[in-house]
Amino acid sequence: MIKRWEELTRDEIGALDKDKSIVALPLSATEQHGAHLPVGTDAIILSTLIDKIIEGEKFEKGNLIFAPQFLIGKSNEHMCFPGTLTFKAKTYYSMIYDIAGAIAHHGFKKLVLFNSHGGNTDMANLISRDLRIDFGLQVFVFDWWFTDFWADGLKGLKESGMYGVFHACELETSLMLAARPDLVYMDKAVDEDPADCFKGDKYVTVFGPVNAGWKTNDVTKSGVIGAPTFATAEKGKKLFDYACKKLINIFSEIADINY
Ligand SMILES: [Zn+2]
Repeated sequence: MIKRWEELTRDEIGALDKDKSIVALPLSATEQHGAHLPVGTDAIILSTLIDKIIEGEKFEKGNLIFAPQFLIGKSNEHMCFPGTLTFKAKTYYSMIYDIAGAIAHHGFKKLVLFNSHGGNTDMANLISRDLRIDFGLQVFVFDWWFTDFWADGLKGLKESGMYGVFHACELETSLMLAARPDLVYMDKAVDEDPADCFKGDKYVTVFGPVNAGWKTNDVTKSGVIGAPTFATAEKGKKLFDYACKKLINIFSEIADINY
């Protein structure tokens, strides 16, 4: 079964077979997404995706439980724009640590840090090892920004160039047009590549292999990195469908791994 933690009763959670359960802890953000998207974009996309998985998918490998979502993450890079909320790294570490500890306390053995914001990725990877060591949890980090998760889904859909999918971009705007078109202002959407100092170099780029520790207004004037003007609701719907199917396969593989 697939459920949200907060919709189960105490006794239902107590009775779950912990050897056949995965808990996914959704990590998102509340931060500026250019002039055309709401600050809750990362949170809304992740929450919508979870709703769609619960409504439309089956999990044959036991129980897939989505813990209450963190709506705020580590977004201090975006504080130079209005509306961004952020935890300091130490605070955020402590919050994830405490909730993971509580999940382990109730007997669960597998935890997926289920992340929709690129600024959380380093924290998720760092804390995953501490949670393994301190609580004995098997911890998996799912991240769609610094992996090839969207690559197949974007094939045949992505029309923008090399920097078109990054932040408040063709991908995120398409997903928002599908999820909450009432909150998207396409007349305000602008495309912007990263600043020249992070573009055209051989090694120091926004994709690595050498990453600079930047804040958002070092990289973009508009707050956008990418090409939201290429976004459509139809692309967003296809991308949600793609993500739901692929995530079920990913969670199924996690169910089969024991270490
Ligand atoms: Zn985002």
